[in-house]
Amino acid sequence: MRQMDAIVDQLGRPIRDLRISVTDRCNFRCTYCMPKEIFGDDYLFLAKDQLLSFEELERLARIFAKLGVKKLRLTGGEPLMRRNLPELIRKLHDIEGIEDIGLTTNAVLLGQYAQPLYDAGLRRLNISLDALDPELFGRINGRGITPDLVLKNIKKAKDIGFAIKVNMVVQKGVNESEILPMAAYFKDLGITLRYIEFMDVGNDNGWSFDKVVTKKEIYDMLSSVYDMEPAEEEYYGEVAKRYRYLDSDVGAQVGFITSVSESFCSTCTRSRLSSEGRLYTCLFASDGFDIRELIRSGKTDEELFEAIADVWRGRKDRYSDERSEQTVKNRKKINMNYIGG
Ligand code: SAM
Ligand code: SF4
Ligand code: SF4
Repeated sequence: MRQMDAIVDQLGRPIRDLRISVTDRCNFRCTYCMPKEIFGDDYLFLAKDQLLSFEELERLARIFAKLGVKKLRLTGGEPLMRRNLPELIRKLHDIEGIEDIGLTTNAVLLGQYAQPLYDAGLRRLNISLDALDPELFGRINGRGITPDLVLKNIKKAKDIGFAIKVNMVVQKGVNESEILPMAAYFKDLGITLRYIEFMDVGNDNGWSFDKVVTKKEIYDMLSSVYDMEPAEEEYYGEVAKRYRYLDSDVGAQVGFITSVSESFCSTCTRSRLSSEGRLYTCLFASDGFDIRELIRSGKTDEELFEAIADVWRGRKDRYSDERSEQTVKNRKKINMNYIGG
């Protein structure tokens, strides 16, 4: 297969990241992602044969690496609900050109899987946690799960040696009261907490501009308590804007993912493979490209490479740059549990 360095999209952006949703199922029903009124007991999730197999994922990841992808992130749904996930990590870990593999999880099952994942070669975890208050967290996750389990599993993973970041989605009128307690808790632990602006992903989460707490609002709250300075970008296209606490002995930092108030489409190098094997070139895309059909129809690696390269070359997405009342209302988007954030 040909090695090509310069596959860029219509806006000159290379492909560097692949996010793989390994399942559309989840043990949470977060109100902003899989509200339980919609994802109820009779919701039809994908059958096993509709998901890409580990062999298919490994083959595709090799092809994506040849296209220029250096970073993989496994997500879901809840990725730890996919059986034998460490086996997939092991397969992906050996791929030439892949420099980094991360996993995004709600950490409920992490107590059981942290060590096997580490042994398989995984080193980085993004853990989602929206509140420390048990009642509030239970309400947001829609399952009444309290944060003590998540916190215990974060500590366990940290002791094993994982590099951990914690992500908190902030919604106006819901969990603003948790902004400072969360900052204090993770500053002490030396774990970077990243505040995510509530986004209009999917079609079911009742999003509107006035439910967003912006980076500026959060930053102002933090800076009334802490002295901070901007930290340098770690890599091209880094999504989070990070700040260092000046008084932290353990080098603690805090970050912001500002996809609503300060969009970052111009450096977006991310591609996404949904749980049913469709390729999406934007988190807010309406439609994807059916790779599962191609791979199962016996295409060669070269043919798959060319098909994916063509999709990327045609990419024009810059949804967050263009977000308006109209796009929010009119665009039908893929649901977050298929595409995984
Ligand atoms: N289940 C895993 C978890 O929650 O970490 C992985 C999948 S989840 C879809 C990935 C990330 O997307 C989580 O950090 C979640 O908080 C975030 N997310 C989901 N819906 C969101 C929304 N409407 N706005 C901002 N972030 C969202
Ligand atoms: Fe599940 Fe993650 Fe979505 Fe919450 S954000 S419902 S944990 S997939
Ligand atoms: Fe990338 Fe789309 Fe998000 Fe813009 S809106 S940063 S193109 S995923």
